[in-house]
Amino acid sequence: MIKSILFLLSLLFVFPFAKDKKKPKATIVIKNAIVHTMDSKNTIAECIALRGEEIIYVGKQDKIDGYINRKTKVIDAHNQVVLPGFIDAHTHPISLASFDLEVKGYKMEKLLKELKIYIDTHPNNKTIIGVGGFAYNDPNFDISKLDEIAPNTPIVLVETDGHGGWINSKGIALLDDLETTEFSENSYFEKNVDGKYSGVIVEAKAYYYAIGKVLKIKENLPEFDDRFKALSKEYNSLGYTTVFDATAGNNDVSDVLFGRLAKISNGITMRVEASYLTSDLEELKTAKVNTSNLKKHNTELFNINTIKVFMDGTMEGYNAALDQPYIGTNTNGNLFFSGNEFQNELVNLAQNNFDIHFHAIGPRAIHEAVIASQKIREQGADVKLTIAHAELIRDEDFQVILENDIIINTTPLWHSYDDFTFSALGQERFNKIWRYNPILEENGHVTFGTDHPSSYSLSPFEHIQTAITRQNKYSGDKKLADEKQKFSIQDAVKAFTTSAAYQLNLANDLGSIEVGKKADLILINQDIFSIDETKIKATKVTTTIFNGKVVYSE
Ligand SMILES: [Zn+2]
Ligand SMILES: [Zn+2]
Repeated sequence: MIKSILFLLSLLFVFPFAKDKKKPKATIVIKNAIVHTMDSKNTIAECIALRGEEIIYVGKQDKIDGYINRKTKVIDAHNQVVLPGFIDAHTHPISLASFDLEVKGYKMEKLLKELKIYIDTHPNNKTIIGVGGFAYNDPNFDISKLDEIAPNTPIVLVETDGHGGWINSKGIALLDDLETTEFSENSYFEKNVDGKYSGVIVEAKAYYYAIGKVLKIKENLPEFDDRFKALSKEYNSLGYTTVFDATAGNNDVSDVLFGRLAKISNGITMRVEASYLTSDLEELKTAKVNTSNLKKHNTELFNINTIKVFMDGTMEGYNAALDQPYIGTNTNGNLFFSGNEFQNELVNLAQNNFDIHFHAIGPRAIHEAVIASQKIREQGADVKLTIAHAELIRDEDFQVILENDIIINTTPLWHSYDDFTFSALGQERFNKIWRYNPILEENGHVTFGTDHPSSYSLSPFEHIQTAITRQNKYSGDKKLADEKQKFSIQDAVKAFTTSAAYQLNLANDLGSIEVGKKADLILINQDIFSIDETKIKATKVTTTIFNGKVVYSE
């Protein structure tokens, strides 16, 4: 009897300690926080425990001490908001790291001026790849303008929106098999009436061909490594821990850049999901073999499994595929893909488990992407299908988008009045631009991508504020017609977290703060869920944790 009482007593005393000892100890604990977990119930928690790369506890303050031992790093959040690490679901860091020169601004004069300064200050640079400017700002561009600045250095410039570029005579001279290389009606090196090259490059296939040649001269770009590491730090400082890179080149260029990325990927502090570009049937037909081959570069943090399909151009280039002509013209843009052969190639890729990421801006292009997606679903393929940009969606396509679980990716910074798009489309069509509420209302998936460097803000908070207010520094006080299309803060944050994780097939590991998921999270200096919506863009990230490690702190 006494023995058994003693036994019970000992249990009483020992058990709490034993239980506590069994509790795994955290490497990092965050307490006194307002944790917006973004889980399916929108749970708000007070503290989080991380162990290694994993989240092991999310909940109330009173339980957290059991996870702490003397080795645990305890972060007192002082009532700051904690969110899942942001996912930029359409962005271009790989390309950006391949450029020597980035010129912010749409004006041609600025691009040329900064190029000249770059050449003067980098006399040892054998060739230069740059990004900046917009073609419509100088429709009469002539190769002599570039040759004057760079008579001896091959130059390849990519237009800010990624849909064209410029090359000088030295650059043309580098392209040893230019005359025998087949381009397409969508992408080529433009010639003047006299048969000479104008210096204008139309669309990506042609400029990636040129960049491929330049990379050889540059001995496969060793400077890429440090540039990409610096970029990943910049993404971290703004709250991103994962990105979807929406293509970085043709097969040759991708092979070089992905190879570099794979080698440095354990020194990089974000996950990179990459994609393979196709803009004509030929590229689509070889995409399976080429992308499978590029998978040899996959690592724990770098992965390619997405085919990007260029369906049309852009509004500012007047080549996004509209239903009716652009105002004051007789063109309704270019559609790069349509029909059975195209659809069958896509079905084939989807059946081989490749995710598809369409670039489609105009309603005709979006519709073709929707129809192809429908066909993919009919064949039972359960891959992720995303239409990026989707600026002007036909009314009747919303239902098909929802029925076939098509994800819509958009860059919120564009969701504001601008004179250029207004005059290109006219009032009636402009009233229907950037509509995503029909999808959100039915619990469909809308994701955000910064499209950096095509849009000039990498800050998720500037994008979120624009999504919510449909106004920003570009629109001033001018409003968009359809106020119903404003995002709620909840939907806007989802678009950078849970929905984005879904698009990237990473929803089991990322997107919300839940036990068992990867320890990617951020602390921010103000509560974006309750502050005045015009103050959201000023939000600062104070700490970024990636894979259980603090990779940025203010
Ligand atoms: Zn695009
Ligand atoms: Zn893009």
